[in-house]
Amino acid sequence: MENHSADCIFCRIIAGEIPADILYRNDHVLAFRDISPVAPAHALIIPLEHIASLSDLSPDHLHIAGQIMLAAGRVADILGVRQSGYRFVFNSGPDALQSVFHIHGHLLGGTGMGWPPF
Ligand code: IMP
Repeated sequence: MENHSADCIFCRIIAGEIPADILYRNDHVLAFRDISPVAPAHALIIPLEHIASLSDLSPDHLHIAGQIMLAAGRVADILGVRQSGYRFVFNSGPDALQSVFHIHGHLLGGTGMGWPPF
């Protein structure tokens, strides 16, 4: 696996070392249910390559970034929220309370939501 980090919990899920409720996988991304859901439908979509945060994306990662966005619709289908709607959120850095440093999009749905989110 490209750029695997032994210290990263999400790299360990990708490697199958930590169990997860896997929803979708292709050659570029993995999606699994969040262990502490904050919405009836709450999945995380991560790149197979270890990249710490959105701020670490470079133009070299354009393809991976696109794959993450494409996977959102697929995972929304799998969770049954594509028609009702969903939010796809990336927390990056301390103000956003990022706690796992492997890029992950939170796909949230299955309920009405408010805006703004703070
Ligand atoms: P962050 O705060 O945006 O970094 O989100 C990290 C998310 O990872 C949180 O919503 C956690 O509940 C979730 N999480 C942490 N460990 C695991 C795990 O082992 N399986 C699934 N989700 C996890």
